[in-house]
Amino acid sequence: MTKVSLVIVGGGPAGMSAAVAAYKAGVTDLLILEREAHLGGILRQCIHNGFGLHKFGEELTGPEYAARYAEQVKELGIPYKVGTMVTGITEDKVITAVNPTDGIMHIQAEAIILAMGCRERPKGALNIAGARPSGIYTAGTAQKYVNIKGYMPGKEVVILGSGDIGLIMARRMTLEGAKVKAVCELMPYSGGLARNIEQCLNDFGIPLMLSHTVVQIHGKDRVTGVTIAKVDERRNPIKETEQYIACDTLLLSCGLLPENELTKGAGITMDRITGGAVTDQSRQTSIPGVFACGNVLHVHDLVDYVSEEAEIAGCAAADYLADKQSERVDITVQPVGGVRYTVPQKITSAQDTTVYFRVADVFRDKRVVVKCGDRVISNKKKIKLAPGEMETVKLTAQVLAELAEGTITIGLED
Ligand SMILES: Cc1cc2nc3c(=O)[nH]c(=O)nc-3n(C[C@H](O)[C@H](O)[C@H](O)COP(=O)(O)OP(=O)(O)OC[C@H]3O[C@@H](n4cnc5c(N)ncnc54)[C@H](O)[C@@H]3O)c2cc1C
Repeated sequence: MTKVSLVIVGGGPAGMSAAVAAYKAGVTDLLILEREAHLGGILRQCIHNGFGLHKFGEELTGPEYAARYAEQVKELGIPYKVGTMVTGITEDKVITAVNPTDGIMHIQAEAIILAMGCRERPKGALNIAGARPSGIYTAGTAQKYVNIKGYMPGKEVVILGSGDIGLIMARRMTLEGAKVKAVCELMPYSGGLARNIEQCLNDFGIPLMLSHTVVQIHGKDRVTGVTIAKVDERRNPIKETEQYIACDTLLLSCGLLPENELTKGAGITMDRITGGAVTDQSRQTSIPGVFACGNVLHVHDLVDYVSEEAEIAGCAAADYLADKQSERVDITVQPVGGVRYTVPQKITSAQDTTVYFRVADVFRDKRVVVKCGDRVISNKKKIKLAPGEMETVKLTAQVLAELAEGTITIGLED
């Protein structure tokens, strides 16, 4: 069995960024395993701009952003294997992977970084009535057809779900000559970024129909139309509001699911809300020496934050391998009052920590209040919070050392 100090599963922005950070922190015996034929992850098909504003202070396209990291991987001589699918990880860090050249490989790692990204919620998970004609795609599949393969999936389009990929595809399909008739969103608010609603829908006059869903797909061989309906507060369709829209294509943008089959197989403790592993501030999972970062841990709104998080995991893996210890604390981070989840969920070391969180609804004029019991640690006024936008609070090493143990709550108050 081959032995490698650090194995990174996934060569997307998270995997590459984690590998570069670990290498720069002194880990030279490492290996990236990527199932696709190239490094870059999903960004290779995201040819629009808007990436890298936070990280590089300039607007890059997805492939440009990914290339910045792929170039670093190559310049530093970090070994990687593409076309290599990881099929299993055990609790004692044995990785099974397969590719056409090496066949089946077993690698004993000292540390592992999980960076497998996420996939889209498919039609089968949505329970929409009707036959199964062609013309139904997830937005990401349509993105791959248009941007990488050069095929148009259809001419008259309805999009279900207003996640960022759906919004981006509404604009892309319009620019490529299709007519996007509507974007229907089940919730009373969009799941996408405000900037994407402005730039992808409003700039092109594409209607966003909030509290609406598709109740039936029409067509036998090919989609011929969809029936949409308004939904009530309990998200049940209201029969009297049904309307038929003729179209040949239905794109689905109904959420991303962290790709955690390997994580679960290794017996790692999972978070029911994020769909990713439970981690501490260094993104270490319940198995010591196994870290997770990027969309496999929780769905990020911007890739810039993916890279930031991956650097944390990369540096932490290097510290783990060098057996570096820091002052231990035992703090649980708990979402309360309007906050849906936090990452990390626990803090085990007194070091400056940024906690990422998402809210459960659209809120205006709320305060983000961080508390330990009755002690208020921070109390910041926010004008608007929305589920589509990731938020952060910073906890200092000093505060964490003072608290040492207990529960920190993060919630919204008037
Ligand atoms: C279809 C789609 C479109 C998106 N568009 C945008 C956008 O326009 N703008 C934006 O900011 N964000 C977008 N995102 C979000 C985007 O995924 C993140 O910003 C970022 O790419 C996440 O990086 P990652 O490395 O965590 O995941 P990914 O980029 O998904 O990379 C994960 C990598 O792991 C590999 N992998 C998974 N499992 C295995 C395995 N078992 N063995 C080996 N390799 C494996 C995958 O092949 C992939 O290359 C999109 C996401 C999707 C799914």
